[in-house]
Amino acid sequence: MVVSAGRGPETPGAPVNAPIPLASTYRSGGELSYGREGNAAWSALEEVLGALEGGTALAFSSGMGAIAAVLESLPVGAIVVLPADAYTGTRTFLADLALRERLSHRLVDTTDVAATLAACDGAALLWLESPSNPMMAISDLALLSRQARVVSPEIVVVADNTFATPVLQRPLELGVDIVVHSVTKYLAGHSDVIIGATVTRDPRWVSALSGRRSMHGAIPGPLETYLALRGLRTLDVRMQRAQANAGEIARRLRAHSTVEVVRYPGLADHPGHALAMRQMSGAGAMLSFDVRGGAEAADRCCAAVRLAVPATSLGGVETLIERRGRWVGEEALPAALCRLSVGIEDVEDLWADLDQALGHAAEQVGQPSPDRLVG
Ligand SMILES: *Cc1c(COP(=O)(O)O)cnc(C)c1O
Repeated sequence: MVVSAGRGPETPGAPVNAPIPLASTYRSGGELSYGREGNAAWSALEEVLGALEGGTALAFSSGMGAIAAVLESLPVGAIVVLPADAYTGTRTFLADLALRERLSHRLVDTTDVAATLAACDGAALLWLESPSNPMMAISDLALLSRQARVVSPEIVVVADNTFATPVLQRPLELGVDIVVHSVTKYLAGHSDVIIGATVTRDPRWVSALSGRRSMHGAIPGPLETYLALRGLRTLDVRMQRAQANAGEIARRLRAHSTVEVVRYPGLADHPGHALAMRQMSGAGAMLSFDVRGGAEAADRCCAAVRLAVPATSLGGVETLIERRGRWVGEEALPAALCRLSVGIEDVEDLWADLDQALGHAAEQVGQPSPDRLVG
């Protein structure tokens, strides 16, 4: 499906790939009239992503564009329940909406089912993210979706499926109403575009979200959409390789003398391991670990990598590493936590690099940590 869907007409002589229509307007009398309403390049990406998640997909200018479209569809005063460790952008956006008295929100630990359901009382929307970023916590999407509706029959359940991707987890099949994606990450997979998407089976949400996309102008560029689809074609093989690498790196990091904790749902002693193995078809390629020696040691480790890239973001073919606590808004995280987005490099090359970088971390000649970054 990831390879064959969204290819356009199967007539002799037709191009194998969907076209990239570079047009802001269309001749009158057809299905499309203006470029903000639709584009054949979007449709191709949406067809593939919709088939993968099992719903109707809409492409947006970015993951945040998709997230904003969902949240801006709620009536003024609505209550949103979301994980305390949800994606920073989502938390910041909701804090801003709360400040302007548009929406209010309740931060919960969504691995705690009772606490989450209690918070859902009177709420309009339950936001879920599993695995979470960067604590790698696993929340029960099926149980929470089902029970939240018992507490609040009209509640809308949304899952940010960026970390898992539909190759490993299909939230709509687990009872979630809307899936959001930062397509920027694994789906596009090459750290070269910013793009987002929503997927839902509910026709009312399809029309609400596509209307919001047009009104907000949160539309992807046709070239970016093409690149995202080109990347998406190899999602399955990239994920298999990155996940195998991540499993091996997680085991080796755990045995390393300069590493204190490794959070990877594929490890048998991860608190969400059993649930992850039920809910997902694999543990994915994201992990986090705490470097022994605190923030300065972690910074030395990130600065010393040569094959991996010290950078934020995730989901590309190349391994990315960063100390998350360097960001404003991430003060609650362990200071020495490094997030690793494991790529598709040769695992021995990758390990040799991480091992030498951890060697630098262990050296006691520390420099002070830089000021926090505003993201
Ligand atoms: C990056 C990210 C987003 C935001 O997506 P953009 O494409 O950067 O706008 C949302 N959720 C998660 C989990 C992410 O990692």
